[in-house]
Amino acid sequence: MPAGNTRAAAFFPPHPVILALGEGCVVEDVDGNRYLDLLSNYTSLIHGHRHPVIEEAVRLQLDRGLVFPSPTELQGRLAQVMCGRYPSVEQVRFTNSGTEGVMMAIRAARAFTGRDRIVTIKGGYHGSWDQVSSQQEIDETTGRPVRWVNRGIPTAVRDLVIPVTYNDVAGLEGVFDTQGEEIAAVIMEPVIGEQTVLATQEFLETARRLTTGSGALLVFDEVVTARLAHGGVQSLRGVTPDLTAFGKIIGGGLPVGAFGGREDVMAVFDTRLPDAVPHHGTYNGNGLTMAAGLASLDLLTGDEIERINGLGRHLADGLREMFESAGYPFRVSQVGSLLLTEAEAADDLADLHLSALLSGVYMAPRGLMCISTPMDEGVVDTVIERMAEAAGRLAV
Ligand code: PMP
Repeated sequence: MPAGNTRAAAFFPPHPVILALGEGCVVEDVDGNRYLDLLSNYTSLIHGHRHPVIEEAVRLQLDRGLVFPSPTELQGRLAQVMCGRYPSVEQVRFTNSGTEGVMMAIRAARAFTGRDRIVTIKGGYHGSWDQVSSQQEIDETTGRPVRWVNRGIPTAVRDLVIPVTYNDVAGLEGVFDTQGEEIAAVIMEPVIGEQTVLATQEFLETARRLTTGSGALLVFDEVVTARLAHGGVQSLRGVTPDLTAFGKIIGGGLPVGAFGGREDVMAVFDTRLPDAVPHHGTYNGNGLTMAAGLASLDLLTGDEIERINGLGRHLADGLREMFESAGYPFRVSQVGSLLLTEAEAADDLADLHLSALLSGVYMAPRGLMCISTPMDEGVVDTVIERMAEAAGRLAV
């Protein structure tokens, strides 16, 4: 494997630790070192590792078979749960990753509108598909693109993607003024989850108004943010998208993605129609993922979400107080159960990450942390103590 890994985010210098076991909110590496798991496989394991209810659901399904080439009862049940939970979702289809969920939502928008161009958020992330991972670097003086950051993405993609700045209402209006009739969809996270940046109410409402007014669709990516509220962030902000992409928590830890939304839009996939848009996938809706996903969402009640959001606040407050009182150069931002630690100097953050590993805390090298349901206040207090030790080690 190039650089010894199969996923860019898995790497950090000098080399990542090799994890071997997980139990609740603890992970253990091949040398037997144990860490409090503040990453939960990049937010997907909201119930931690080896949750007994999820394991039992998967074990039951193992006795019945892994995957079938037909619709299954479990797919229908998870579809019903999602339609009941997320305000925009009248119909849903399953995929194998969040990336694919996004891809198919955009394909639906293009098929429905007959238009090709999409508006994305600069610096946003929606998976590894060309059209949403292509990021233009913009010359701030001329406002013109200077180069594509991602090598390997065809330049033709440039003509299809219009990047705008998050929360820049005038910028979004400008794009719709000049190109509104060519736009199939605006795709955005209603909170940039892994960066803990909230969309302003005005930006969300403007995106809703402009898309409706021009015949484009509004697509929310709730792959990460579905963890923040029982009905996703869309249930909190009074702005309902036409389509939503999902992943991570809806699969109970197994590979998953989904997309859903308005019935008239999802009808582009109605296989009974001669011009139906094909949506294939050998493992779409496989039994293990559906069983784990149902168990995961069942466990994830509104109360449970409130509890882990509260633990997120508690952790953020504790870390902030600790960093500030000791004069350490770290800032903490937090939305619900998601936290981000940042530093002015990239080296400081890299050092803190390695030092946190020595103190038994596993977080993302770029400072992302999240709360999982096996945690309680005691665990969070231990994380704060260990992070104090980790930061203190750097200061000496
Ligand atoms: N959208 C967002 C907001 C994400 O954070 C991610 C992955 N972290 C994806 C989409 C892609 O999901 P996957 O990795 O399952 O393809």
